[in-house]
Amino acid sequence: MKILIVEDEKRLAATLADLVELGGDQAETRFDGESGLDEALTGLYDVMILDVMLPKRDGFSVLRAMRAEGIKTPVLMLTARSELADRVQGLDSGADYYLTKPFEPQELLACVRALSRRQPELRESDRPSFGDLTLDKQNFTLHCGSESVTLRHKEFELMELLLLNRGSVITKETILLKLWGYETEADDNNVEVYISFLRRKLKHIHSSVRIKTLRMLGYCLSNEE
Ligand code: CA
Repeated sequence: MKILIVEDEKRLAATLADLVELGGDQAETRFDGESGLDEALTGLYDVMILDVMLPKRDGFSVLRAMRAEGIKTPVLMLTARSELADRVQGLDSGADYYLTKPFEPQELLACVRALSRRQPELRESDRPSFGDLTLDKQNFTLHCGSESVTLRHKEFELMELLLLNRGSVITKETILLKLWGYETEADDNNVEVYISFLRRKLKHIHSSVRIKTLRMLGYCLSNEE
């Protein structure tokens, strides 16, 4: 597989390229939006990893321009900001997936693999699911059968994180980092509060999925059906 990486932080770009190559794929790197777009327009790539904040031309503009030219390469957008507005803008410009910095290498590789598959799977990654639950990333709603509930920003991010890590335990530290970033005064209590919000919402839509607390470890989804 050929993967195009457009990222201006040289060290991160090199790390990404190493990760891709370790996975047995070929990586090509560009450090600004303009040359990234030129390369993307060749249409030679299976997946593109695209940073949002780039010199010369930002990621959103690169994405819109390549989609306008009919380039359908699946795009994984990287952003340091976890703002809802960014995600919406990214999806509007035709991004297939979003990853918020900082991210785990495993998470990036999993996204790249998911994106490299064909269209149906691509759509699926836009609607992560577990048990009777499906998260609609376009409308920020959580569905269970015919019932649904709208999630607020942090609830949405937390639910998405739990769903993407379904089958494994996610620690409070990871949740704190992903939802609040490095420089934050938020602590474990904040995580617990949002977990309890989500539990209430799961109950509200009568889902058989539970968020289990594993003492000293973290949380995981379980299907109590
Ligand atoms: Ca950047």
